[in-house]
Amino acid sequence: MPRSRKSQWTKKHHFIAVNLSQFDVNVACFDSLFFFLSSREKKRRRIEDLTEKMAVDGGHMEGDWDGRWNHVKKFLERPGPFTHPDFEPSTESLQFLLETCKILVIGAGGLGCELLKNLALSGFRLIHVVDMDTIDVSNLNRQFLFRPKDVGRPKAEVAADFINNRIPGCKVVPHFKKIQDFDESFYRQFHIIVCGLDSIIARRWMNGMLISLLSYEDGVLDPSSIIPLIDGGTEGFKGNARVILPGMTACIDCTLELYPPQINFPMCTIASMPRLPEHCIEYARILQWPKEKPFGETCLDGDNPEHIQWVFDRSQERAAEFNITGVTYRLTQGVVKRIIPAVASTNAVIAVHIFL
Ligand SMILES: [Zn+2]
Repeated sequence: MPRSRKSQWTKKHHFIAVNLSQFDVNVACFDSLFFFLSSREKKRRRIEDLTEKMAVDGGHMEGDWDGRWNHVKKFLERPGPFTHPDFEPSTESLQFLLETCKILVIGAGGLGCELLKNLALSGFRLIHVVDMDTIDVSNLNRQFLFRPKDVGRPKAEVAADFINNRIPGCKVVPHFKKIQDFDESFYRQFHIIVCGLDSIIARRWMNGMLISLLSYEDGVLDPSSIIPLIDGGTEGFKGNARVILPGMTACIDCTLELYPPQINFPMCTIASMPRLPEHCIEYARILQWPKEKPFGETCLDGDNPEHIQWVFDRSQERAAEFNITGVTYRLTQGVVKRIIPAVASTNAVIAVHIFL
């Protein structure tokens, strides 16, 4: 894309974002998002010829039994006290969801597993999932689509296999890749993109991609070029979920300050006036390790128990020197590996919020 056009878009986009306080763009609920999507879809259909209509089972619903989608119909076929004023209850919405709606899930980790399960059980049938990771044994407590035999295999592939075997009619397409490996044409095919990522860099990349997909005619945003991004994230017992309509609502880059900062301790504190057990551990890790080279030129490996033991011993010495308590082996490991405990329930709650 020409650079000048992109910067023009960015400018417009940020103009919109700055004025956000004057708008009341509330789409953070299932039915209104749905309304938005189906009206966008209608426009798309008018504009494009429908040669590449995406029908899951060639139009008819295979594998459906009586009452299978009753729980979804309750949302789509009747209004409720909290539905968006523009929401039109319709039987077509379910049809759209089952046959046309193509959704992309980014990340098949803690949130990703929850999302895939929720989507598949709610009637989304054309799901793609992108994840660049393989399964580690430490994932198994909460990433419930994986079993011990799957350790070492790509998360996207195992998750897709699990859902496809378990949910009749659902077709999850896995991509064992980085989001950056795909171009605009890949992302453009989706109606919604849902993110369960653990990195701000990846979120910003995704955000940039969706903003670059927007098109403007005479300065007016073409709504059919908007792909809603639903972003979720968890950290320990905290988490968030929100809907971003690129070009209409504040995006990831507009709201970077909402993300928790990466915890780093000032070097002067670590070097000369430690107060916390973490300061002692950082002292051993950053300053003593490279100086004393206890294992030759080997870099500190957070998964090597001997390395952690060495850092733990040095940290205890330093803690004793400054009368600091609380240095434990576990904490040492946590600080060295930058571990924030992942909590299964947080993932579940956030996944449901993403969904609603
Ligand atoms: Zn923005």
